[in-house]
Amino acid sequence: MHISVIGTGYVGLVTGACFAEFGVAVTCVDKDAARIERLKKGDVPFYEPGITELVAKGLREGRLHFTTDAAKAVEDALVIFIAVGTPPRPDGSSDLSFVEDVGRAIAKTMTGYKVVVTKSTVPVGTGERLREVIRAHRSGDFRFDIVSNPEFLREGSAIDDFMRPNRVVLGADSEQAVAIMKDLYRPLYLIETPFVVTDIQSAEMIKYASNAFLAVKISFINEIANLCEKVGADVQVVAKGMGLDQRIGSKFLHAGPGFGGSCFPKDLAALVHMGETAGQHMQIAEAAVRVNEEQRERMVKKIEAAAGGLKGKTFAVLGLSFKPNTNDLREAPALDIAKALLKAGAAVRACDPAALEEGCKLVPGLAPAKDAYDAAKGADAVVIMTEWNQFRNLDFDQLKKAMRAPLLIDLRNVYEAARVTGFGFQYVSVGRADKGVVRAKTRA
Ligand code: NAD
Repeated sequence: MHISVIGTGYVGLVTGACFAEFGVAVTCVDKDAARIERLKKGDVPFYEPGITELVAKGLREGRLHFTTDAAKAVEDALVIFIAVGTPPRPDGSSDLSFVEDVGRAIAKTMTGYKVVVTKSTVPVGTGERLREVIRAHRSGDFRFDIVSNPEFLREGSAIDDFMRPNRVVLGADSEQAVAIMKDLYRPLYLIETPFVVTDIQSAEMIKYASNAFLAVKISFINEIANLCEKVGADVQVVAKGMGLDQRIGSKFLHAGPGFGGSCFPKDLAALVHMGETAGQHMQIAEAAVRVNEEQRERMVKKIEAAAGGLKGKTFAVLGLSFKPNTNDLREAPALDIAKALLKAGAAVRACDPAALEEGCKLVPGLAPAKDAYDAAKGADAVVIMTEWNQFRNLDFDQLKKAMRAPLLIDLRNVYEAARVTGFGFQYVSVGRADKGVVRAKTRA
């Protein structure tokens, strides 16, 4: 089978490279000519573990092709995946203009039956809208089907998530399209991946409901963490005690600076907007957004309280990307927090294994450092913003020597307090008592 994937971002490229690995002939399309030129040479324009090797293999074995020519890609393919961005508009709704552009391009060039699949996250009703767009722009009465096949991969473990997903969701109103999609995903069928086959609207909703639920879990534990700080409980233990209940589960119960990334903030905003349009107030999603925004402000106050002020202080920021193992900085809490520190008159030295250059462009005034120890030079505090493995085993003697004052503010609860205070550090984390903090009002 020959397929095309339109959009070669995180989702499109991983989808294309993984299907090529399944043995399918794949043409990946992007309107960004520079990106396609790089990809033709096997040069992946973003950081994702394993993707470079998979793209190289697909190219070498002749199953993976890159082009800017959408017409050619449509002509050759039976199944066309749409994996373009669906960014938020100022009112929170999804900007579907890229999806509709692709719909028109498909319509103009199709000369036979096609299965048009939305892999992008799109609001309920988009599948039907896409059907109208294609119908309106077709050059002949060519048959086509629409399938909603939302993607659940996580940046940082995208390939594994695609190759071994918890489930595959297929929304369609055509048996033929479902049969073609199941054929395409046959390698996953063989490893007994559950398939949820439903209508297009329900498939579209599954994606939003899933992301919103995960975001709610994060905001919930952050709110519990804030209460823990006030009443003297330890959120790490609380989360563990909760998570062992199988009805709750331990995932997404990590207190910290709140969620970021290209998906949760925009998908929650889109869900709230979808609710407004449909006359259904999405109160829980709305509260999760509010708690998340406040959490970033709370982190700035936490840093201020621990360091005894911000103006004139120097902070070493460890990690900028919104989570480890990605260079994605979209909506990263570290960026907002660093901006607030700079605005208050602090100096900020940052390091990140994959997102430093881009991060420094996005936050004017941020000074790049080559690693944690370089960042810590003359710092009044080291702040762990993103839990990259590189920051999980810091050499505290070396860190302390570089710093002006030995203070570690661990916004990801990476460390056990005793391990850090044993080196003479003051230790501040999220949802747990400060340790060794002389000026703190709470127990030391
Ligand atoms: P991205 O911004 O990394 O990539 C989108 C790509 O589409 C860009 O390279 C852009 O040039 C290209 N593009 C836009 N319009 C085009 C057109 N008309 N023709 C050809 N190419 C075009 O986006 P992403 O992070 O891969 O996300 C894509 C979609 O998948 C979004 O709807 C997102 O919500 C969803 N999603 C993302 C993730 C994730 O972790 N990133 C996970 C699940 C779902």
